[in-house]
Amino acid sequence: MSDERILSPQPVEDDLQNELSLRPRRLREYIGQHKVKENLAVSLEAARRRKEPLDHVLLFGPPGLGKTTLAAIITNEMESAMTSTSAPALEKPGDIAAILAKLQKGDILFIDEIHRLQPIVEEKLYSAMEDFELDIIIGTGPAATTMKMQVEPFTLIAATTRAGLLTAPLRARFGIVHRLDFYDVESLEIIVRRSAEILTIPITNEGAHELARRSRGTPRIANRLLRRVRDFAEVRHEGKIDLSIARDALHMLEVDEYGLDEIDRKLLTTIIERFNGGPVGVAALAASVAEDRGTIEDLYEPYLIQIGFMQRTPRGRVASRLAYEHLGYPLRATMPKLF
Ligand code: ADP
Repeated sequence: MSDERILSPQPVEDDLQNELSLRPRRLREYIGQHKVKENLAVSLEAARRRKEPLDHVLLFGPPGLGKTTLAAIITNEMESAMTSTSAPALEKPGDIAAILAKLQKGDILFIDEIHRLQPIVEEKLYSAMEDFELDIIIGTGPAATTMKMQVEPFTLIAATTRAGLLTAPLRARFGIVHRLDFYDVESLEIIVRRSAEILTIPITNEGAHELARRSRGTPRIANRLLRRVRDFAEVRHEGKIDLSIARDALHMLEVDEYGLDEIDRKLLTTIIERFNGGPVGVAALAASVAEDRGTIEDLYEPYLIQIGFMQRTPRGRVASRLAYEHLGYPLRATMPKLF
């Protein structure tokens, strides 16, 4: 397995089963994201008191931060049932109509990657979200007629890594909008310890701290590192993960002090070496490192920006002073002070 897969915030095959068992089921078990949790608790309580479905919810933020988990938690807290799909699976208006027709009162419809919705499908969703109605066209050509179909009141929970790509009319139809941020080390440490308990992996507090610190602020990565390091601990040691085992294993997995992987480092060294520190446009950067532009924008740069290694300026991406120091490059004489 390459280290790229270890650190990718996207789920990989062996995550899927594990994620089910590690997913918190109730809001109180959901760690971190305090503001989101507090606000959601109020919205949930109000909806329960009014005995009405919750307003439609839009969750956005980088992958692996807990959007799907939160959708399942909302379903549990509302004691409802969830139908789950993703925008690329909804190819024609009939696909969404078929799903909506089956919903029962108070059900949750979860649509992942909502920014990838086809415009003709999106239009169908508007009246369903707003008036719980769906226009169905019967027949073709001049004889075609439109029929209105009632949809049971439901809650749409949509998740996206790219809120900026949503159309204004779609965005405006969500009453509750929350952005998930990268997690701090303390929260990730709690997540690592909780997961270790569920998976019965012995780990010391220092070991958990070390994994948390190098997880790119992302619970999915923290859980993945825990399992990889467990393998290492079982094969090379007695099985308990402590600080030195965590360090050795992370070194072997090429996860550096900041939790950066090969691709992160390649992005930064390319900006520094080939573009003299930047600014460089994301398209040119993507071409230089032979990565997809969307992958850089979605997966890599949000964290590099968050930890202050990269800056997004109107003229392009710039490597910061911290990045130069971390990667061992001499600082440029012309470097702006703030970097
Ligand atoms: P996303 O949908 O944003 O890509 P997921 O909801 O699939 O992310 O989360 C990935 C995994 O990370 C989950 O299976 C869960 O184990 C863990 N996780 C996410 N958020 C939390 C949290 N707040 N507390 C504990 N574990 C979490």
